[in-house]
Amino acid sequence: MKKKIEKALEKVIFIDNKNIVESGLVKKIDLLSNEIIIYLSLSNPAMHLKNRLIKEITHSIKNQNILDTIRIKMEIKSDTKTKSVIKNIIAIASGKGGVGKSTIATNIAVSLVKMGFHVGLLDADIYGPSIPLMFNIEEKSVNFQHKNGMMNPITSYGVKILSIGFFSKYGQAIVWRGPMVTKVLRQFMHETNWGKLDFLIVDLPPGTGDIHLSLLQEISLKGIVIVSTSQKIALSDVNRSVGMFRIRSISVPILGIIENMSYVFSKKTKEKCYFFGKNGVRNFSKKMNIFFLGEIPMLQKIREYSDLGIPVILENEHIRNIFLKITENIIHKLQL
Ligand code: ADP
Repeated sequence: MKKKIEKALEKVIFIDNKNIVESGLVKKIDLLSNEIIIYLSLSNPAMHLKNRLIKEITHSIKNQNILDTIRIKMEIKSDTKTKSVIKNIIAIASGKGGVGKSTIATNIAVSLVKMGFHVGLLDADIYGPSIPLMFNIEEKSVNFQHKNGMMNPITSYGVKILSIGFFSKYGQAIVWRGPMVTKVLRQFMHETNWGKLDFLIVDLPPGTGDIHLSLLQEISLKGIVIVSTSQKIALSDVNRSVGMFRIRSISVPILGIIENMSYVFSKKTKEKCYFFGKNGVRNFSKKMNIFFLGEIPMLQKIREYSDLGIPVILENEHIRNIFLKITENIIHKLQL
C-alpha cells in the first residue's frame, strides 16, 4: 500500500520539474484504517499553489485505485535566512513586447507608494529589462551585505527595485538559459533584503515559454495583471499567455487586463482616434471572462517621462488619476 502511494506521489511534479518525493517535500506518510495522512514541508507557497498541490496529490492517489480518505498536512517552513515579509506578489504580463508593460509596472508601483504602501519591484524581463532606465538607476549596481551575502535592492521614488538589468552592462545581451534565470530569480526572491512589503510587483518577460513556466513555479503569485494594445496581432499573443496562466499545472489567478495606448487625440479635430482599433482589449476581456481594469491613452508625456527616468504619475495629474483608478481596481480584485 505504502509503495503504491509513493508511486502516486512520484507522479506529482511541483518545483523545478522534480517530483515531490525527489525534491524532499514529502516528510512522512501515515496509514491509518481507511485514512492516509501525508505530511508535506513547504517554504511559503501561495494559496493557489497549495490548493493545486492538494488537488494533484489527491488525483494521483485516486488514480491508483486507492479509495481511502486522504488528508494532507502541510508544514510551512519560513525561510530562516531572510527576514522579508511580502504580503502580495503581483506579476505584470503581456503577450507582445513594446505594449507598455514596464511603463505600467513602474507607474502602478509608484501609485501604490503614493497610497502609502511599502512596495518592491522585481524586473524579471530578461529580454529587455527596462525598469532601471524608467527609474533612472541604470548606472547603479546591486550591493551585497557582507555578513550573509544578501542582496540589497536599490530604492528609487520610494520603490525597492531589483532588476536582471543590474547584472548586465548597457548594450549587452542577456543570454541565460532557463536554469540560470531560475537561480537568479530565486536569489531575487529569497536572498534579498526586501524587508516588509505590502506589494512586490514582478515585471515578467513578454510571451510564453520555458522561462515563464519556471518563473511562475518559483514565485508565489497572488495574481497576474495583463497589459495589451488592441490590435489583433497583440491580442492573439495575449490569448496564448492567458492559455498558459490557465493551464492546470500553473493556474495563477488573472486579476484583470489593461488596455494601453487606447487612443490618441487628433491634433486637428481634438477627437479620440483609435489607432489600434476601438475597444479591442475590452471586447477580448469579455470574451475571455477577464476583468477589465481600465484604459490608458497614448500620450507623448508618458513616453517622454519614461525616457527621462521619471514615473509620469508624479508629474501629470490626468495620468496620475488614470493610474490610481487602475491600481484601486487591482487592490479591489485582490479583495484586500
Ligand atoms: P514593454 O515593457 O511592454 O516592452 P514599455 O513599457 O517598455 O513596453 O513601453 C514601450 C515604449 O512605449 C516606451 O517608450 C514607453 O515610454 C512607451 N509607452 C508605453 N505606454 C505608452 C502610452 N500609453 N503612451 C505613450 N507612450 C507609451
